[in-house]
Amino acid sequence: MPPVIPSRLKVGVDVPWVTSWSQERQGGVGPCPTVDGQMAALQLWKPGVGKPLYSRNHLRRQRDTVRALLCPMCGEATPDGDRWSQTGAFVAAGGLRARGFGKALPADLADDRVLLDCGAIAPLHFRCAQASLQRCPHLSALPNRELKAFPPAWTIVPLYVEARRPVGGTTFGAVSFLQLLGITQDRDPDWRSRLPPV
Ligand SMILES: [Zn+2]
Repeated sequence: MPPVIPSRLKVGVDVPWVTSWSQERQGGVGPCPTVDGQMAALQLWKPGVGKPLYSRNHLRRQRDTVRALLCPMCGEATPDGDRWSQTGAFVAAGGLRARGFGKALPADLADDRVLLDCGAIAPLHFRCAQASLQRCPHLSALPNRELKAFPPAWTIVPLYVEARRPVGGTTFGAVSFLQLLGITQDRDPDWRSRLPPV
């Protein structure tokens, strides 16, 4: 086997901290502290080894970023007031419920409450968001490049994959990525009119 040469690219500077590398094989499930010991999809941890796979987030690091609000660019904690979303979209809680997210949302959250759906991408430091806009061709091509302030309250929705027990072959759910929803103070009384036509 050829020797694996560490990349010259620097993790957290040239390549986002959350990005997978080619030597980080995915495989298996096991209890993971990122989800309080629940079963989760696992992946080797060798950031900076091989080639960066920009379109693929590392499973464990992705969960770390959402769970602990670590900046996906540099991997450091984001303080209150310095959390910015580039790709998040505003959506009413009722709109998410209509798409089948009902069980994952707090039951007392009114349908007209506006959420900032960040998907799997935790908010970044302002300086890191600016730097990644300049470096990432995908981000710089976005039609809406305005940074959105991440609200002070949020909820986390686990996304599951189906795993199979080696003995017996029965299946169970294992957490893959975590989805992050910021809870704003805004209301959208017309949220029903924004539902896709049935
Ligand atoms: Zn950062």
